[in-house]
Amino acid sequence: MDTSITGFRGRLVTPDDSLYDEARRPFNGQVWRRPALIAQCARVDDVIAALAFARENALEVAVRSGGHSVSGWSGTDGGLVIDLCLMAQIHVDPNDQTAWIGPGARAGEVVSRAATFGLAPVTGVTRSVGLGGLLTGLGEGYLTPRFGYGTDNVLAFELVTADGDVLHVSADSHADLFWGMRGAGANFGVVTAMKLRLHPSPPQAMGGAITFAEPDLLAASRHVWKIMRDGSPDYCPIATYYRTEDGPLRLTVLPGHVGPAADATLAMDELRTCADSISDDIRSMSYTELITGPDDNGVQGVRQTWDLYRLDFDGNPEQQIAFLLEQAKNLIPGSHFVMWRTVPVDPPSPPSVAPRLPGISVNIQTLWHDEAGDAEHLQWLNDMAVAFQSSGIAQEGSNAVNHIAGCDAHRVESLYGKENYERLMALKATYDPTNFFRRNYNVPPAR
Ligand SMILES: Cc1cc2nc3c(=O)[nH]c(=O)nc-3n(C[C@H](O)[C@H](O)[C@H](O)COP(=O)(O)OP(=O)(O)OC[C@H]3O[C@@H](n4cnc5c(N)ncnc54)[C@H](O)[C@@H]3O)c2cc1C
Repeated sequence: MDTSITGFRGRLVTPDDSLYDEARRPFNGQVWRRPALIAQCARVDDVIAALAFARENALEVAVRSGGHSVSGWSGTDGGLVIDLCLMAQIHVDPNDQTAWIGPGARAGEVVSRAATFGLAPVTGVTRSVGLGGLLTGLGEGYLTPRFGYGTDNVLAFELVTADGDVLHVSADSHADLFWGMRGAGANFGVVTAMKLRLHPSPPQAMGGAITFAEPDLLAASRHVWKIMRDGSPDYCPIATYYRTEDGPLRLTVLPGHVGPAADATLAMDELRTCADSISDDIRSMSYTELITGPDDNGVQGVRQTWDLYRLDFDGNPEQQIAFLLEQAKNLIPGSHFVMWRTVPVDPPSPPSVAPRLPGISVNIQTLWHDEAGDAEHLQWLNDMAVAFQSSGIAQEGSNAVNHIAGCDAHRVESLYGKENYERLMALKATYDPTNFFRRNYNVPPAR
């Protein structure tokens, strides 16, 4: 196949290129793919040209911004990757507190840039995640309890469809598509720019971590549950159960408090005194430092798989804690239960498809280094999923878009709910009737 693309001014990477392995490297080392061609686009016209090339050569297309899809959707075997890593521009308008960004911009870069104007975007908590993937899904982070999902704060998308049309999608233009893009956006085309609403940057943040062990896990868990359900919107802790190398169970809490210093100090006092801890390096820092500190060091490229469940705030906390502590006995080295509060604020106006059921999100994940570990870890995740699904205590996580590896049509339908799923299928039939964009949590076009 001749891999030159007429009019393309970005960088084309083929399997013979020395950059090929680096360019196709996913965050999750378990989902390496071998595309026939990687088109690193530098501008909208490159995206249009690359899509035309894929259509002419009947190549499957995968769209990549930051490469963090745990499912490996942003890679393809034998197809064409439209890679937006070069389209990472960030233009902040401090007067109307917005920013236009390219999809290849990483969360940490946008947080750092906005902070120079005293402003902050709603992103996830991990600096290296690409905003193309994060904001076409949901995007949950420390600012979510106060300002909503990341996608609630997208004011406009620039989108290239499979036919190469450029659409400006907002509340005033293609409003039907704007509803679906905020939560299921990867289904409709290639996002080439986004306009974000920014907020005043938090005055300070509480970072670091505190760790609890037996016999204090029950008391610490009860406190964590209380914060998750009743904590202030400035308080968004991430709590993780895991086992150490030699076996004992631990609970580590990253406080993630982004409110005023006096409130934060009080909240940290309560966290520190809820049970005896075995280590504690909680400290005050800037919000930028909280997001841009070390995150993926050591796990970039490691093999991993994820699934996500929800514990409703209406459920019985004692039963929920007992269930998780019981299941935690089955944690294997490298595996975790990572929990955060999903407390979506009122639907954005106009509303979006993003699911809004509140509760404690429990991300079941396991990481390992060698292919030899695949069978054990994939089986572990499967067994854990069965235990959660059959528990009567946990529900399938409706906010799981972005947080599950692999997803059949039934699960995608359950993520959005039947009515929204049917509305998405109708949108798909209008904007991508051939299901050209299918490497995503896929919604098929209505027939
Ligand atoms: C270490 C780690 C930490 C994470 N932390 C958080 C967190 O704190 N909060 C949170 O909400 N999520 C988090 N996530 C999940 C993350 O939001 C998703 O994996 C997200 O999809 C990654 O976006 P990306 O651009 O990096 O990924 P990619 O792999 O590039 O893309 C992911 C999906 O989005 C599609 N896509 C990407 N760019 C575009 C585009 N421009 N136009 C159309 N479709 C596109 C891709 O085709 C693919 O289906 C984390 C993931 C990892 C691996």
